[in-house]
Formats: sequence, structure tokens, C-alpha cells
Amino acid sequence: MLLKDKVAVITGGAGQNGLGFATARMMAEQGARVVILDLAVADPQAAAARLGAQHLGLVADVTDKASCEAAAAQIKAAMGRIDILVNNAGITQPVKFLDITGSDYDRILDVSLRGTLYASQAVLPTMIAQNSGSIVCISSVSAQRGGGILGGPHYSAAKAGVLGLARAMAREYGGNNIRVNCVTPGLIATDINKGKIPDDKRQAILDGIPLGHIGEPNDVAGCVVFLASDLSKYCTGITLDVNGGMLIH
Ligand code: NAD
Repeated sequence: MLLKDKVAVITGGAGQNGLGFATARMMAEQGARVVILDLAVADPQAAAARLGAQHLGLVADVTDKASCEAAAAQIKAAMGRIDILVNNAGITQPVKFLDITGSDYDRILDVSLRGTLYASQAVLPTMIAQNSGSIVCISSVSAQRGGGILGGPHYSAAKAGVLGLARAMAREYGGNNIRVNCVTPGLIATDINKGKIPDDKRQAILDGIPLGHIGEPNDVAGCVVFLASDLSKYCTGITLDVNGGMLIH
């Protein structure tokens, strides 16, 4: 098992059809004790219970620093350590550049970008004290190609910001044996895009994917498990594309 006895925390991990829950499930299968963090409305306790009694679900809003810190303290008390953080929480909005309002901008950047900052700040002191840790940040192909699928320009900016923040963390904490890497998923079938791909756009999207199909949550989960595990122990600051070849660069 790749993650035996590791404690893995996943933000935004409660959605049954989401990348976070697929990652949580695969990490549990690989021997990790998993902590699912999510908003109350997503019911993280129920999601964790679906994985088994040794796993934990906590309400935490990644846009709220105090909420992230409280969750980290509860995890430390319950599990004793924190080995892995997956910064997965994110929201999107399909809107054109000139239509982005200040509150749209704040909302989208706050979850992906501020959320990555706050959740990472909450777990880093524990990882530094352990002299080990692996943080995986979920960015998006949207950051690399300037959107153009479902998210608006502010979503691209948030996800590009995640790449910069993660690389800076990787540089700062390499000496503490903490690795920080990113995954950039292409189009993956989850609730974030369910029913939002118009039929006339679908074929054009598929034509742009060399592997010829939309990805599944487990396609991303496998890559996150790889980056969280010691299989990737000499990788830090990298960006792993999981997009069926949609962006070959
Ligand atoms: P999803 O909507 O199923 O998952 C997002 C989760 O984040 C939800 O469980 C939601 O409750 C949670 N969340 C939202 N705001 C939060 C907050 N303030 N605090 C804590 N949790 C919060 O969608 P998904 O497709 O599984 O998305 C997971 C990640 O992958 C997101 O960051 C998304 O931007 C990214 N992503 C998805 C795709 C795709 O095609 N599905 C592609 C590239 C990147």
C-alpha cells in the first residue's frame, strides 16, 4: 500500500462525484487515514463515514483562516499527525471577461487561491515539526490555456495563482522535507460541469482531446496519490497534466 498509516487531509472532498472524494477513496484504499474537509452543506462527516470508521469528516471553509486552523487542531488531536494535504476545494463560473464583477472575482479567487493559502498555512507547522509532508494543489488546464472550456478568466487567474503559490511553497519548504506539487486536470466529469457542456460544444471539445474522451475522477485521483506518495519523493514544484492530451506543450 502506497500510503500506509499516513494521515491525508482533502479540502472540498465531500462531493460523491468529485475529484476530492475520488482521491479520498483511493487514499483510503492505499492505507491512509483520511480527513475530509468541506462546507456544512456538503456534509463531510457523512462522506468520511462512507469510507469507514477510521476516517474523519470536518466542516471547514477554506476561505476562513480561523476555520482552517480549527480543523488542523482537531485533526492533530484526533490523528496525531498530518502527512498529506490536497488543496482541492474550488468553484467556477462561466462568464466573459467584461462581465466579471468584483464580488465574482473575490468569490472565485477566495476558494481556489486564498483557500490554498489558508489550508496550507494551517497544516505547515505540523509538517515542519514532523520534518515531512506532501501537499498537492489542484489547479486546472484552464490556468495553462487561458480558460476557454467552462471557467471564466477569473477562474483561470485563480488556478494560475495556485501554480505560483505552490511553486513558491515548494521552494521555501524543500529544506523541511515538505514537497509541494500541482495537478492540472483537463475536463473531468464531476458536478462542477454536470449539464453545463452544450451538445454543440461537446464534439468540438472531444476533437481536441487526443485520447478521445472526457476524464473520470479516478484519473485525477491516481495522479494525486502518486504525488502524495513516496513514489514521487524527488518531485517538488512540478505540474502534472491530467488532460488526455488536450494541452501538449
Ligand atoms: P466539485 O464541485 O464536485 O468539488 C468542489 C468541492 O469544493 C465541493 O465539495 C464543494 O462543497 C467544495 N467547496 C466549495 N467551496 C468551499 C469552501 N469555501 N471550503 C471548503 N470546500 C469548499 O467539483 P470537482 O470537479 O470535483 O472540483 C475539484 C477541484 O478540481 C476544484 O478545485 C476544481 O476547480 C478542479 N478542477 C476540476 C476540473 C473538472 O473538469 N472537474 C478540471 C480542472 C480543475
